Amino acid sequence: MLKLIGLSKSFGGVHAVNNCSLEVKEGKITALIGPNGSGKSTLFNLVSGVLEADSGEIEFNNKVITKLAIEKRALLGISRVFQQPRVFSNLTLEENLLLAIGQDDTKFWKSFFGLNSDTKEQLGQVNKALVSVGLDELKKKQATDLSFGQKRLVELSRAMLTKHKLLMLDEPVGGVTPPMRKKIAQILGHIRDSGSTIFLIEHDMNFVLGIADEVFVLDEGKIIAHGTPAQIRKNKKVLEAYLGE
Ligand code: ADP
Ligand code: MG
Repeated sequence: MLKLIGLSKSFGGVHAVNNCSLEVKEGKITALIGPNGSGKSTLFNLVSGVLEADSGEIEFNNKVITKLAIEKRALLGISRVFQQPRVFSNLTLEENLLLAIGQDDTKFWKSFFGLNSDTKEQLGQVNKALVSVGLDELKKKQATDLSFGQKRLVELSRAMLTKHKLLMLDEPVGGVTPPMRKKIAQILGHIRDSGSTIFLIEHDMNFVLGIADEVFVLDEGKIIAHGTPAQIRKNKKVLEAYLGE
């Protein structure tokens, strides 16, 4: 689905991403792990279009997107889940998610023809997304009353509501409690099983090795290993890279 071919990006003299090639397969959870400063966020920014590559190519469903604007990549179905939850604290959980559906362009036509945007159908979709992250009972609560971890879950349910083919997650369990980690791991599994493709970056190796189908390891801007979690667990180069931190 997503292919990176010899991708590079430097900042001054720092080769943040150095000739990286990798593939994210449809219907799988692919993880990119690596020590701090290894280039994970830079690589993600190249894929989502926040940064432009110095060289190399990015293909999405066989279409070259290397120089495409962020919004155009989003229209193709590349959706990025933000690390810092972006919820409107003065709205309820349900209202926050209705807004997410509002980004869909069918909303324009519905309001154009004078239909109420809060149709039963949309409320149904929102409820389904909330059930899938276990927050349905809190839907009438103000978002300000939610914990940090719960706001992360809201971000995940928002991502599920928007049309996407590839979900990109930047450290989905960064800063959350161990029980919430477990919950997020389960939810990501469900999202994958319902047909989405997930590409995530994460510093926490144990979390990743528990949920990913395929893992790429980045160190100093280069891919130093690729394989299943079982293969990565045994890989000496990977352990050395993490120990060297
Ligand atoms: P990671 O996400 O794996 O921690 P980053 O992609 O954030 O790594 O950073 C990789 C390297 O690139 C680091 O050495 C970092 O200091 C450098 N870097 C990242 N972004 C910038 C930037 N905007 N300007 C200068 N250097 C940067
Ligand atoms: Mg980072």
